[in-house]
Amino acid sequence: MSLRGMSQALLDLVLPRVCAICGAALSEHEREMVCGNCWLKAQELPRPRCDRCGHPYDPTRRAVDCAWCPLLPPFVRSARSAYVLPGGQAEHIVHALKYQGWPAVAEPMARRMALLRFPADVERERAALVPVPLARSRERERGYNQSMELARHLSRYWTIPVRADVLERTRSTATQTQLTPGERRRNVSGAFRATVHREVLRGLHLVLVDDVVTTAATLNACAAALHSGGARIISFVTFGRAPAIGDRW
Ligand SMILES: [Zn+2]
Ligand SMILES: [Zn+2]
Repeated sequence: MSLRGMSQALLDLVLPRVCAICGAALSEHEREMVCGNCWLKAQELPRPRCDRCGHPYDPTRRAVDCAWCPLLPPFVRSARSAYVLPGGQAEHIVHALKYQGWPAVAEPMARRMALLRFPADVERERAALVPVPLARSRERERGYNQSMELARHLSRYWTIPVRADVLERTRSTATQTQLTPGERRRNVSGAFRATVHREVLRGLHLVLVDDVVTTAATLNACAAALHSGGARIISFVTFGRAPAIGDRW
């Protein structure tokens, strides 16, 4: 047994490893912080999904009638999400990452996000990952930005760099949970700004990373800032996605 394996075995002995979500003991081969059972209970975003926005659509209707696509401005090429939120195990996983101080949960989350397939042009063009910036006060309080943690791990899987330095939050915004779609848009409008010279972003296809998307108000505001800062096109990737009004899945 290697020294590392030995110290892990010792550590397991004194400090039994448990799932960060349900608290069940992790078996020896479960090396991540969330147990297999919890992952099984997390609800994947249903299929079929729209090729552009990645939103599930009613298979009895035509894909061109996608109700989510109109949320996206023309310079947003595509969006992808892996799991359904709120409710269920996926929400607990996001909660562990954001509020229970488990940044390590980002690794298994990002591994699953990395499996999402984008249209071929996106996979060919995507130049860098940009995490949605957190308000400085919130990042200080939490100790990390959860979107940055997801982006860091995604970057290894997709072998593209993270550019956390190209976008900043210019003001902190009220939490969006209780707001209507219109209020969400106003709340984040103009809250982000590109921080680098246009030449740095010119012509690039960037992928914004966030933990959850609901009405896309925050991601759209970030995308607008990057686009007016020189980027040609933007795509989104998130771990979770909330149903839109009228969704029946
Ligand atoms: Zn579990
Ligand atoms: Zn769509």
